[in-house]
Amino acid sequence: MLSWQIGNVRVSQVVELTTASLGPHLLPQATPAAMQAIPWMAPFLDERGRIVLSMHALVIETSEQTIVVDTCIGNDKPRTYPKWNFMQGDFLRRFAAAGFATEQVDTVLCTHMHVDHVGWNTRLVDGVWQPTFANAQYLFAEAEWQHWRHESQEYGPVIEDSVQPIFDAGQAVIVSQHHQVTAEVALLPTPGHTPGHVSVRIQSQGEVAIITGDMIHHPCQIAHPDWSTLADSDPAIAQLTRTEFLQRCGDEPVLVIGTHFAAPTAGHIVKDGDAYRLDY
Ligand SMILES: [Zn+2]
Repeated sequence: MLSWQIGNVRVSQVVELTTASLGPHLLPQATPAAMQAIPWMAPFLDERGRIVLSMHALVIETSEQTIVVDTCIGNDKPRTYPKWNFMQGDFLRRFAAAGFATEQVDTVLCTHMHVDHVGWNTRLVDGVWQPTFANAQYLFAEAEWQHWRHESQEYGPVIEDSVQPIFDAGQAVIVSQHHQVTAEVALLPTPGHTPGHVSVRIQSQGEVAIITGDMIHHPCQIAHPDWSTLADSDPAIAQLTRTEFLQRCGDEPVLVIGTHFAAPTAGHIVKDGDAYRLDY
């Protein structure tokens, strides 16, 4: 299990799965030939040169709280993508093996409400969707909720089985995209992939890390910030958000932790010609 220390804060990765089959659907420009041209890309590709995406939750431990950022795909859910349809993965076993109990989680953060970020918000218990993290407050950015509460999702009844039950259980809290979660953890608005998308900023003892969410899906977008994914609700804003973010990170020692980056998952942004690379 990968983990990172940012001052007094620890961030740990719990992987649900990795996949190379979503690449063409998300980033058709990222062909094996295009990827071969980027010398630092190897860890983020499979043996055939296809881009790999990791589905993982990131657990933030501060002196105040245990926080889970994004909850992957989930089990037992009807989904239009065959591999995720009524999936039976072992994420909860991995979560426990990493040393965490679902009951200890104080806060669940959601970078956005897509299918692969809210799945383990709930689990099926006796035929009913129950919050997986029984004692947690689940924070949702207002702009994101206002968008998705009336919008159908491509992959199935995602809001119905993974978000609405959190409201029904009284565990949902609507927050601004600038919300300060604890003294060391805050949301950072990064719109474009979805209207209310947020990243997560951690600052402790002078060190800074940022969890990307889907502002950057794959490290190839660090080399090609103009590559928006086909899943971006507003590709132009997504590109602007990403470019500004990379520019800022290139000027500061920020640890960038990718929500879908395969191992090594995190690194620093370094200027590389006209664009950037991830120094890991
Ligand atoms: Zn995603």
